[in-house]
Amino acid sequence: SSIPKIVILGAGYGGVLTSLRLQKELNYNEADVTLVNKHDYHYITTHLHMPAAGTDNPENARVNISKLIDEFKIDFVKSTVVQIRPQDRKVILEDGTLSYDYLIIGLGGEPETFGIPGLGEHAMNIRSINSVRLIREHIEYQFARFKREPHRTDYLTFVVGGAGFTGIEFIGELADRIPELCKQFDVDPSIVKIVNIEAAPTALPGFDPELVEYAMQVLQKKGVTFRIGTAIKECTPDGVVVGEGEEIKSQTVIWTGGVRGNRLIEEAGFETMRGRVKVDEFLRAPGHENVYILGDNSLVFNPEGRPYPPTAQMAMQQGVNCAHNLVASIRNQPLKKYAFTNKGTVASLGKGEAIGIAFGKKYKGRVAAWLKKAIDIRYLFIIGGIPLVLRKGKFL
Ligand code: FAD
Ligand code: NAD
Repeated sequence: SSIPKIVILGAGYGGVLTSLRLQKELNYNEADVTLVNKHDYHYITTHLHMPAAGTDNPENARVNISKLIDEFKIDFVKSTVVQIRPQDRKVILEDGTLSYDYLIIGLGGEPETFGIPGLGEHAMNIRSINSVRLIREHIEYQFARFKREPHRTDYLTFVVGGAGFTGIEFIGELADRIPELCKQFDVDPSIVKIVNIEAAPTALPGFDPELVEYAMQVLQKKGVTFRIGTAIKECTPDGVVVGEGEEIKSQTVIWTGGVRGNRLIEEAGFETMRGRVKVDEFLRAPGHENVYILGDNSLVFNPEGRPYPPTAQMAMQQGVNCAHNLVASIRNQPLKKYAFTNKGTVASLGKGEAIGIAFGKKYKGRVAAWLKKAIDIRYLFIIGGIPLVLRKGKFL
C-alpha cells in the first residue's frame, strides 16, 4: 500500500509543534508530511504587541520556517489555503491542490467584530507581522501629520477597543513608546491620549481582581485612560461611537475585542461555534476521523463544561497530542485523549512590569516581567533550540 499523506495547514503554534513532533517520531518512509503556510516564516504571535507599538523590531517576532523544520523530512509549501474539501480529502491552495489521508487544521483565528459597523473597515488588528507593521507605521505617521495640522488632536488620540490580554499588553507597550515619539517629533506629551475601551464591568474579565487592579494602576500611571463598562457601538473614519452615542474622535483604532475561528472551516461544512470546532476527545472534528483541529480553531471544554480560552499554550499542547495520535493511527495503536494542563498566565504591562498567575501563585511587577521573559525564551528553545534563543531572545 502507499504511504499515508499528512497535510498540516498553518505554521502557527499548533502546526509547528505538530510538525516538530512528527519529524522526530516518524520513521523513514512511514508517512509523507506536508506543511502549508501563507508565509515562509512562523510568527511569534505572543510577541506581536511589541512590534505593533514599535518597542521591538518586527524581525524579532518572526522565524524562517526553514530554520525550524527539517526539509528532508517535511515538505514545506508556501501558499495560501483557499478551500478545504473534506468530502474529497483535498485542500485547494491559491496555486494548486493537495490531497491527504490525514488533515491537521491550525490556521489560527480571525478578529471577531460581532457585526459592529465599521470595525472591519476602519480598525486595525494585532494578528500578523504585516498587520503590526501597519499599526507601527500608522502611529508614527499620526505624529508626522500632527506637526502639519496642530489643531488635529484626534491624530494623537489612540483608541484600543477591548481590555482583554491583547489590548492590555498592547497599551503597556504603546504607553512606553509615546514618550519616545513625543521626543522624536517635538510633541507635548500632554496632547497624546491612549484610551482603552472595555464593554465588561472590568478590564481582563475573569482574571484575578487584585492583579487587574494592579495592572490598571500601572497603566494609568503611564497615562492610559480607561473607559470600563463602555461598549464600542460603531467605528467610523473619524473615530468610535461608544455607550449611548458618545463619539471619541481618533484616527487610530486598534480592535482587540476578540477572536473567532478561521472562516475556511465553516465554509468547509464543519459545525462551528464562532468559527471554532468543538473537537472530540482526540482533537478530531466530529464525524471526521482523519481531520484534527488545533489552536484558535478548536473549542475544548474544561471539566466544568466551560470553554478554555484559545491560547498559544493550548495550541502547543494540542500539537504534541495531535502528532502522537497521527503516529498511533498510522501504526494502528490506540489514540491518546487530550487534556489541557494550565501552566498559568502571565501578561506584560510594558517594560519591567507584568502580572501573572503561575505555579498556583500570583506575581506582579519586576518578578512577573522576568517570568514573562522566561516563558518567551522557553518557547524559542522548544521550537528552535539554543541558536534561536540567541538570535531572537530578549534578555533585558
Ligand atoms: P496562529 O499562531 O495564529 O498561526 C496560524 C498560522 O496559519 C499563521 O502562520 C498564518 O500565517 C497561517 N495561515 C492563516 N491563514 C492561512 C491560509 N489561508 N493559508 C495558509 N496559511 C494560513 N497565548 C498564550 O498562551 N500566551 C501569551 O502570552 C499570549 N500572548 C498573546 C499576545 C498577543 C498580542 C496575541 C494577539 C495573542 C496572544 N496569545 C497568547 C494567543 C496566541 O497567540 C494564540 O492563541 C495562538 O497564536 C494560536 O495558535 P494557532 O496555532 O491556532 O494559530
Ligand atoms: P478576549 O476575547 O480575551 O478579550 C476581548 C475583550 O474585548 C473582552 O474583555 C471583551 O469584553 C471586550 N469587548 C468585546 N466587545 C467589545 C465592545 N464592543 N466594546 C468594548 N469592548 C469589547 O481577546 P484577546 O485579548 O485578543 O485574547 C484572545 C486570546 O488570547 C485569549 O484567550 C487570551 O487569553 C489570549 N492571550 C493571552 C495573552 C497572555 O497570556 N499574555 C496575551 C494576549 C492574548
